[in-house]
Order: sequence, then C-alpha cells, then structure tokens
Amino acid sequence: MPSETLARPTPDVIAKYEPVIGLEVHVQLASRTKIYCGCPTGFGAAPNTNVCPVCLGMPGALPVLNKTVVELAVMTGLALNCRINPLSRLARKNYFYPDLPKGYQISQFDQPLAEHGWVEIEGKRIGVTRVHIEDDAGKSQHEGFKDSERNTYVDLNRCGTPLAEIVSEPDMRSAAEAYAYVTELKQALQFAEVSTCDMEKGHLRCDANVSVRLKGATKLGVKAEVKNVNSFRFLREAVDYEILRQIGVIESGGRVMQETRLYNPDTGETAGMRSKEQAHDYRYFPEPDLVPLRVGERWLGEIRSRMPELPAARRNRFLHQYGLSDYDAGVLTASRDLADYFEKAAAASPDAKAAANWVMGDLMATLKAEGKEIAASPVSAERLGELVTLIAKGELSGKLAKEIFPKMFATGDAPAAVMQREGLQQISDTGTIAAIVDQVLAANPKQVEQYKSGKTAVMGFLVGQVMKASRGQANPALANQLVKEKLG
Ligand code: ADP
Ligand code: ZN
Ligand code: MG
Repeated sequence: MPSETLARPTPDVIAKYEPVIGLEVHVQLASRTKIYCGCPTGFGAAPNTNVCPVCLGMPGALPVLNKTVVELAVMTGLALNCRINPLSRLARKNYFYPDLPKGYQISQFDQPLAEHGWVEIEGKRIGVTRVHIEDDAGKSQHEGFKDSERNTYVDLNRCGTPLAEIVSEPDMRSAAEAYAYVTELKQALQFAEVSTCDMEKGHLRCDANVSVRLKGATKLGVKAEVKNVNSFRFLREAVDYEILRQIGVIESGGRVMQETRLYNPDTGETAGMRSKEQAHDYRYFPEPDLVPLRVGERWLGEIRSRMPELPAARRNRFLHQYGLSDYDAGVLTASRDLADYFEKAAAASPDAKAAANWVMGDLMATLKAEGKEIAASPVSAERLGELVTLIAKGELSGKLAKEIFPKMFATGDAPAAVMQREGLQQISDTGTIAAIVDQVLAANPKQVEQYKSGKTAVMGFLVGQVMKASRGQANPALANQLVKEKLG
C-alpha cells in the first residue's frame, strides 16, 4: 500500500486541511455484578469461574437487567449533560466471535438510554450523541507463534460485564481536543463514581474516528476508525498520525478509504484492519427477552439527587469561593478525594490560599515521593489546617513549618505536638530574643553604623540574622520590634 509510505506533508499543506474527530468510548460501569445475571465482575479471578448459564449464553437462559447498572448508566448520562430517555430499548447486535458464546451482544440501537449531551473543553462544547448500555464479551488469549503450535484459550469471566458506550459528535478538530475531551469525560465519570476509568484494567477503552477535509468544506470527509488506543498518550499519537496519513493520501491523488485501523504503539502508526465492505452487518433487532427500559420521573429524580458536584462546577466554585487561580483550581479538582481534602484543610484554616499552596506543594510532593494516594495521607486535612493556622497566627514561621511538616507526615501527629517534642516552638519570650539581638548587633558593627547613618534598609539584614541565630524560632514580629528598639 503506497499510502503507508507517503512522505510527511509540509506545514503549508497541512494548514489547508481541517481534521475532524469523533470518539467512541467504552467504560466499565462500577457494578459488583454483571449486567444480565448475578455473577461477580471482579478482576483477576481464575478463568471461567465467574460464569453462569446466562453469561455463558446457554440456550434458554434468560437475562435479567441489573438495576444498579441502569442507575450507573443514567448517572453517566447526567454527568455528560445528556437527556435521559424515559423509554429506551435493549437490542440484539449479532455477530460471531469465539469469546461471545451467545452470538450477540445485548446493546441498544435506535432508542438509547441517554442522548444530546456535551462535554466542555477549554470553553468549547463537544457534543455527546448518545450513551447506551451493553454487555462486554469474553477474552481470547493466543499462545505460541507458529500456526502449528498456536493455541487459543477463551476466558468468559468478562462476558456480561456492564459497559456504557459513549459516542461523541464529530466535533473535535485536533488530537489535543480529543485528548482534552477524554480527560474531561474521565474526570466527570470518576467524580460521579460510575466507573474507575482505569485504562490499565480496560475499564476505559477508546476508538477514534478521524477524517480530514479542506478548510471551508461543509461536507465531512471519509473517516477511518482507529481501534486499540489504550492510553491517552496513544490516542493523541494515533490521531496525529492518522491526520497526516490521510492528508498524504489525498495530496498524492488518492482517496481515504472507510475502514477500521489498528494503532501500533511500537511504531506510532496505524494500519488497515478491515474495510467497510468487510464490516459486520449486525442485524440489530429489539431484544425479545427484555421489556423496554422505563426510567420514570421519580426514579430519575432519585438518581439525580445522588449526583455529586461535577468537576467543572467544582473548579468554577473554587475560583470564586477560595480565590484560587484557574491553574490551582484545576490541580485541586484532579480527583474528588483531592478536592475533598483541600476543602477540609481550607475549612480548618483561616487562609484557603495558603492551604491550597501546602496541599499542592509539600503535601503532594511528599505523597508522590512515598507513592501514596491522597486518601492515604498520614497528614489529615485537619492537621494540615492546624499547620496553616499556626503560621497565620504568627506562632510558627514558614521556615519552621517546612521542618515540621515532614515530621507530621512521618508520624501523623498534630503540628503542635511535633513542635513541643522537637523543641521547635516559636520563641516569644522578649528576654531570650533581646539577648540574641544583642549578640547579632555586636557581631555586625558595620551594618549598625550604616543604619545609624541613615541606611535603614539594612535593618532587614539584621532581623534576618536574628532569625537565623534562633534557627527560625524567634517570633519574627518581636525580633523586628526589638532590633528597631535597640538601634534606637
Ligand atoms: P458508523 O456508522 O461508522 O458507526 P457513526 O455515524 O455511528 O458511524 O459515528 C461513529 C463515530 O464516528 C461518532 O463518534 C461520530 O462522531 C464519528 N464520525 C462520524 N463521521 C465522521 C467523520 N466523517 N469524521 C470523523 N468522525 C466521524
Ligand atoms: Zn453469569
Ligand atoms: Mg455507529
């Protein structure tokens, strides 16, 4: 295929085109049991142990829709600003695959659970076409390289694992926007606790539909669908590669084929897998073993009332309530646990901005160094609040606080207890500080002279020396006052 070896288009050629991207994201819904039976969904069980006649697709076995799964899917829709349809339908999507013993998935087709949503990225809304529920298939494992030695094993534990499929509008115009969209989507779903979205465990999977068209064109170009994009970084790389490949094909007089392609992270390239002519005809029809799905006003209201504040709203509130910068609000809402921690620390201290700085600075750095999550922080939010309070009240210098914090982290103790134990309390005794001031003035006659001849700026230096001599323990206000007095 010549298209695979095309030269990279030049920047001015690239600039003639507009990329168009739409994403299909599958997330595993955080239900302990499967979507159409009561088998556990746990990860890592021995192969073919979490199965029953329903998820094994035995003839005559009947599915029962899991209520929790529906609620999680409704929350998914709400988290993505969708309209929840009061009536939706399950539908059979027929295809043969060795790890799909039923011979079909029970999905949704023309009447999905949720529609018409959006995700906001950097001030731009990306449309969410639909959210629907379906069951996952099992897993095939290939072993051996030569055909003669090759064995394939099938593990059906994953059959019936509940998924939500989230289909976007073709609203993204760059790999960066695609990246921002999945990042935002993942964060919203994690806040709503509908899915862990753990990509390493396959709890979030992403297919990228990519096309290009000449700028100003109104019709969409022919798209290729890139599968197997199993990290956000790969998504960006795969979309970027695909954009350049398609421009190259068109520029050399060719036509982009509608096809499914696979991303290879080792080469950073995509390669054709099957063309549209080979695409499945899924022969969708309404699932005869399940009644239509009704989500009435009352149930919807109940589910809605369980929705937490979502990341975008929380970021916005942090800006106004705590006077944080855009950047800080973004960092502190990276996860719900972190945002909760910060708000508790802020509530326990008189200075929210200082609390934010401690959380984003020393705390996050130490957690990272120790490989700990915020939820497992040995320094509780209340204790961090106490530290910030002591600094704000002038009972602790910033420098001493930096020394005390690692000791709080190591022991979980309150800052006051660490100060007591380590003899790090602030010295607020006038006599003790006065003695230090005398020493400092005696040791720096030149600066004292300068001060007396009118260079009063030198006072800062002298106070600094007093602080240093007291190992940072002198009450700074008192040190300041005494130096001034003694200089007369
Ligand atoms: P298909 O019929 O191939 O399943 P759909 O119209 O259902 O295609 O769209 C699937 C996904 O592809 C959606 O996320 C949609 O936004 C995206 N998409 C559709 N057409 C294009 C296009 N021309 N370029 C890029 N993405 C597209
Ligand atoms: Zn089962
Ligand atoms: Mg489609």
